[in-house]
Amino acid sequence: MSDIGEEPSVRVLISEAEITSRLQELAREISRDYEDKDLVLVCVLKGSMVFFADLARKITVPLRFDYICVDSYGDNTESGEEIELRTDLSESVAGRHVLVVEDIVDTGRTMGYLFDLLEGRGAASLAVVALLDKPARRKREVEIAYRGFEVPDEFVVGYGLDYRQQYRNLPYIGALESSSPLG
Ligand code: 5GP
Repeated sequence: MSDIGEEPSVRVLISEAEITSRLQELAREISRDYEDKDLVLVCVLKGSMVFFADLARKITVPLRFDYICVDSYGDNTESGEEIELRTDLSESVAGRHVLVVEDIVDTGRTMGYLFDLLEGRGAASLAVVALLDKPARRKREVEIAYRGFEVPDEFVVGYGLDYRQQYRNLPYIGALESSSPLG
C-alpha cells in the first residue's frame, strides 16, 4: 500500500446485508428466466469474481462457469478508451444462453466490447447482470437485463472492486474519500 501515498478512507455505500438480499432477488429472477435453458455464466475478471461467486451459488438452475479477462483501466481509475482482451472464454458459447456477470457498468465501453466480441459466436442469447450501474458517465448504451444497484458518480471499491489492486476483499461497497483518485 506504500505506493498510493495518503491512505484513502472508505465510506460505506452499500452494506454487506443489502448486497446479500439484492443478490437473492437477482438470483430468483435469473433462475426463473433461465429455467430449462443451457446457461453459461461468464465472469468478467478480475472485479466480478466476488459477485460472480456469491450470485452463482444463489441461482438454482443448472449452469456452466466460464471466465473472460479484459483490461480497460490498467492501474488508474480513469476509464481507458482501449479495451484489451487478456484471456478468452475456455468453451464455445454456440447454442447456449450466455449471461455476462459484470461488477460495474460505468462508461459502458467494456460491456460494449464484450457484446461485440460475443455476438458473433452463435449464442442462443446474450444478456448482462451488473451488480452496479453508474449511468452518469455512460458513453455507450448498454442494456442491463439484471441490475443490482445504481451508484452515484463516485469511485467505488470493495466486493471485488479495486483501487490499484487493493480493497477487493471488503465485504461491502464503499466510496473512496480523502483523496481524489479520479484526479
Ligand atoms: P466501463 O468500461 O463501463 O467504463 O468500465 C467497466 C470497468 O471499469 C469495470 O468492470 C471496472 O473494472 C472499472 N470501473 C468502472 N467504474 C469503477 C469504479 O467506480 N470503481 C472501480 N474499482 N472500478 C470501476
